[in-house]
Amino acid sequence: MRAGRGHPPEGELAGDGRRDAARHLVTVTAVRVGVDRERCCSAGMCVLTAPEVFDQDEVDGRVMLLLDPVPAERVAEAREAVSFCPSGALRVVES
Ligand code: SF4
Repeated sequence: MRAGRGHPPEGELAGDGRRDAARHLVTVTAVRVGVDRERCCSAGMCVLTAPEVFDQDEVDGRVMLLLDPVPAERVAEAREAVSFCPSGALRVVES
């Protein structure tokens, strides 16, 4: 069988697999999330996706950031919430 693009040819996995896996390890660190409350349309997707990170104001329904910075263990869900925001009110601030 011919190896697909990006896959090592058969027989090279045993020797190179461990090195290849180590090359893809990523250390997740805390991030900051930028919030533009003026753009928030109170859809609540961020709260549904990452309730430990976001909440909504009881008065106007706009987003409130609960964790700043967002700790490493919450970064994945925070990024997902940012991607789901329909108004573009959220962004991950890369340092
Ligand atoms: S998902 Fe976006 S628009 Fe909806 S409440 Fe959160 S910040 Fe506001």
